[in-house]
Amino acid sequence: MAKRQGRNRFAYFAPAMHAGLVEKLDLAEDLRGAIERHELEVYYQPLVDLDDGAIVGAEALVRWAHPEKGYIAPDRFIPLAEETGLILPLGYEVLNTACRAAAGWRHPVPLRISVNLSPRQVQDPALVLYVRQTLLHSGLPAESLTLEITESLLSEDAEVAANRLAELKALGVRLAVDDFGTGYSSLSRLHAFPIDILKIPKPFVDGVAHGPEQAALARAIVDLAVALGLDVVAEGIEDAAQCAELRRLGCTVGQGFLFSRPVPRPQFDKLLSQGALVPADV
Ligand code: C2E
Ligand code: MG
Ligand code: MG
Ligand code: MG
Repeated sequence: MAKRQGRNRFAYFAPAMHAGLVEKLDLAEDLRGAIERHELEVYYQPLVDLDDGAIVGAEALVRWAHPEKGYIAPDRFIPLAEETGLILPLGYEVLNTACRAAAGWRHPVPLRISVNLSPRQVQDPALVLYVRQTLLHSGLPAESLTLEITESLLSEDAEVAANRLAELKALGVRLAVDDFGTGYSSLSRLHAFPIDILKIPKPFVDGVAHGPEQAALARAIVDLAVALGLDVVAEGIEDAAQCAELRRLGCTVGQGFLFSRPVPRPQFDKLLSQGALVPADV
């Protein structure tokens, strides 16, 4: 087949590849503009106490409504932002917006705000200063801020990452490993980093109510967290059976469509005023 197409193969594929590249560059240009014009939005997904549905915090998640292409998922534009370096201004904008929002939340218990950091941000020498200034200017107590890092950080370029995470930790913020168990990290490494929280990824939560074998991964993360003295947060809880099983395993905090989708700030404020979240049918 390949032989029959012979020399024309390159000529055949090149325009498609070119079109893909142009589209990507276009999108990157649009993203740059959107960041400059402050068009990106931050949504908040409640973190809840799995025992009573009380809101204990939120995860900040960026949203981009493209004027022509409509809503574009973070899984599509975050990798592009990382590739182009736009993740730095994007990430700082999200951090700033989220910390200001969280500093304004009035609630019986202090709420935590969780913000995702991309590996590229962790490599940025200005990160620690920026986080410090954001805390100062927003008035948010450091212990109310959780920074979510990716597991890959615990294996790549470990020295820079380890130093940076130690500096962040020294500010008093909490560090969470997002989607723990889906990337590569050695467990011995985990011990060498100043981590506070492991987040159980949605695929493991999906399996949790389907018998002991499927639940083994979530259970292993909870047990590891307990053994290392870390907190654990379950992600992507969609039904009551998953929630009950996670509680049985010893996981006390989670997030998911069962309780609430990520929502814009005014809606999150409304959820807060309602107190506990009643599980929804999804
Ligand atoms: P993540 O940090 O693991 O965030 C959790 C994702 O799971 C979010 O997707 C959230 O909407 C989704 N989710 C939560 N509960 C449920 C559920 O019950 N069912 C289902 N189907 N999904 C649920 P989202 O907002 O599309 O974000 C995807 C990823 O993009 C995030 O995964 C994170 O890695 C990245 N991301 C989002 N915002 C930012 C940001 O501000 N900075 C950086 N660096 N990355 C971000
Ligand atoms: Mg996250
Ligand atoms: Mg996650
Ligand atoms: Mg994810």
